[in-house]
Amino acid sequence: MHRRIAHMAAEALIPTSPDEAAKLFGEAGDVVVFGGGTILLPEIAAGRLHPARTLLLHRSGLDTLEAGGDVVRIGAMTTIAVLIDGTDDLLTRFAEHIGDGEIRRTATVGGNLCASPGIGSQRGDLGAPLIALGARVRSTGAGGARTEPVEDFLAGDRRVRLVLEIEYDRPAGKTAAEMMRRRHAHSYAVANVAAAEVNGGLRIGISGVAPFAVRARTVEQSRNADDVLKDVEAVSDALASAAYRRKMLPLLVQRVLDQLETA
Ligand SMILES: Cc1cc2nc3c(=O)[nH]c(=O)nc-3n(C[C@H](O)[C@H](O)[C@H](O)COP(=O)(O)OP(=O)(O)OC[C@H]3O[C@@H](n4cnc5c(N)ncnc54)[C@H](O)[C@@H]3O)c2cc1C
Repeated sequence: MHRRIAHMAAEALIPTSPDEAAKLFGEAGDVVVFGGGTILLPEIAAGRLHPARTLLLHRSGLDTLEAGGDVVRIGAMTTIAVLIDGTDDLLTRFAEHIGDGEIRRTATVGGNLCASPGIGSQRGDLGAPLIALGARVRSTGAGGARTEPVEDFLAGDRRVRLVLEIEYDRPAGKTAAEMMRRRHAHSYAVANVAAAEVNGGLRIGISGVAPFAVRARTVEQSRNADDVLKDVEAVSDALASAAYRRKMLPLLVQRVLDQLETA
């Protein structure tokens, strides 16, 4: 049975099962979903966010991770730290660069997928490996529950969906990754490229370059690294200019293609 706590003008909804979380999200109307809160809490502390109603997922049971079989299933509330210990190499390589140990023990996969860009940097690093792995996102919201490719979920209006679970088939083929970041424990990515051979084809995901991660479909077909600029429109932020990202991204893609060639 969920708890409902009202304090002054704010109300917190605390579901105790995934079904209850989905039901409350559907009924609540305008509600701010809380995962680990590593993005939301600083916003509230700085006075930039004043949520009237929050859906707190920490007791929702959405933190399950099933990684033993051919299909890996990651509950939205799985923390980045748990992901590092429990999933495959490609996802782990990106997860272990997010924030520091304290952030990784609190930040969730659902929050990473739904993270909007920060004031000075892009976020949502896990989008690149999840796209490369051919992950699917199960979410609920208007129209009910649906499962869709992660790149479609990211390109949609994430604010109106509650992420329940992410799943992917464990990769049987080669994988490759390149990350470009500032040298600091709290650094965000300047550009991320992840690639995987899935079902006989190549899948490439790009994150850290634009407001949400994208699939590099043109490069997947042509194997020409310069084509990545047709797939993603780089943005400027405090970490890097769009021009710099446009210069570096094809080089990173070329390195990933070379890794796959020689692996
Ligand atoms: C010092 C520091 C360093 C960081 N470094 C990185 C980094 O290197 N790379 C990176 O990608 N991020 C980084 N972050 C940002 C952040 O920690 C991660 O993106 C994290 O995964 C967000 O998850 P969360 O659960 O804390 O999100 P929250 O703060 O709980 O939520 C973030 C957004 O997602 C929404 N949301 C959360 N869960 C769900 C859900 N299940 N369904 C629908 N919407 C949901 C929230 O409403 C909110 O809009 C950093 C943050 C800090 C403070």
